[in-house]
Amino acid sequence: MAGSGTTMMQEAEETTRRLMARVTDFLCAHHLPPSPANYAFAYQLVSNPDGMLARAVATIADGGVRLTQADLDRIGGPGAADADAARQVAHNQALVARTHDQVLGFETMVREIRDETGQFGDDLAAGAAAMRNAGSVRIDEVVEIAGAMVNRVRSAERRLAAATSEASELRQKLQEARDNARRDPLTALPNRRALEESYTTAAASREAMCFAVCDIDSFKSFNDTFGHLVGDRVLKAIADLLADHCAGHLVARYGGEEFAVLFSGIALDEALALLDRARAAVAGKRYRLRETNAPLGAITFSAGVTAAAPGEPLTDVFERADRLLYAAKADGRNCLKAG
Ligand code: GH3
Ligand code: MG
Ligand code: MG
Repeated sequence: MAGSGTTMMQEAEETTRRLMARVTDFLCAHHLPPSPANYAFAYQLVSNPDGMLARAVATIADGGVRLTQADLDRIGGPGAADADAARQVAHNQALVARTHDQVLGFETMVREIRDETGQFGDDLAAGAAAMRNAGSVRIDEVVEIAGAMVNRVRSAERRLAAATSEASELRQKLQEARDNARRDPLTALPNRRALEESYTTAAASREAMCFAVCDIDSFKSFNDTFGHLVGDRVLKAIADLLADHCAGHLVARYGGEEFAVLFSGIALDEALALLDRARAAVAGKRYRLRETNAPLGAITFSAGVTAAAPGEPLTDVFERADRLLYAAKADGRNCLKAG
């Protein structure tokens, strides 16, 4: 008994070693750094050699082409989102550092220009005093002083113009970073943070609002069957359909496989009708695998929709919509509940 236990342990150990060796072989063959995200990617690949990820890799690496880090991040798996987030953080940090340097550069420049102007004032006063003492005006000296002044003004102008254009380029980049912080990179929809800000603004204007939480049905088993990569594409397709059907209202990716819709200026029955058309459109679509055209089966979502009372905090509205969503799930999914 103890003997067979030992053998099983040895076998398990051997399996782990073989799997890890294949992970390492993959990373080495493609000259990829052993980052946690790359390990996770390689693990997903070698542990499921017939999966979607393996097929995506095979398409790129066909004929001995080496995979790049960019390929890995693009075809992703769960690590791709982390890599995206890490890149975004690094980009933002670089922006902050550049802004900081620019402010310091501005301060230095303004101080130097002020010093030069002060120096010029002193030169001017000294020249005027010398001419007064001599009792005559030396034209060549006046021309020299005026020439020096023109040169300094021109140099200051050039430096200011360069700094101003760098400042406006930075302002634009900061605006982009601000927008990116409010957008979900996978679906390009506004994210939860953007939704919360929009809700606060809309609530202050006291216009009628309805709120919906939508959640894709049985998405875990979809991912388990077709892989995370295909799941990501489906998320994007559903995001697009929701955004189209609810055009004019705010559709956000709340997180994971959940979307939220903030309807403005319409009553609950209208919001419900709009969202039900989106639900029917998603459920009626025949999703297929891009590479092989194989059918992916029906994909559906359920939702809870509610009207927000004037001044009601988003947390309360969300909780009510979420309870209604739960009721829709309990009622068999692919349906909406309003209240
Ligand atoms: P239910 O109908 O009760 O909502 O079932 P469910 O399987 O959808 O719910 P559950 O909460 O058990 O699982 C959610 C799944 O959504 C699991 C998770 O992998 C998947 N998911 C969340 N975010 C993403 C994503 O960004 N991409 C992919 N492909 N899947 C995601
Ligand atoms: Mg969910
Ligand atoms: Mg779900």
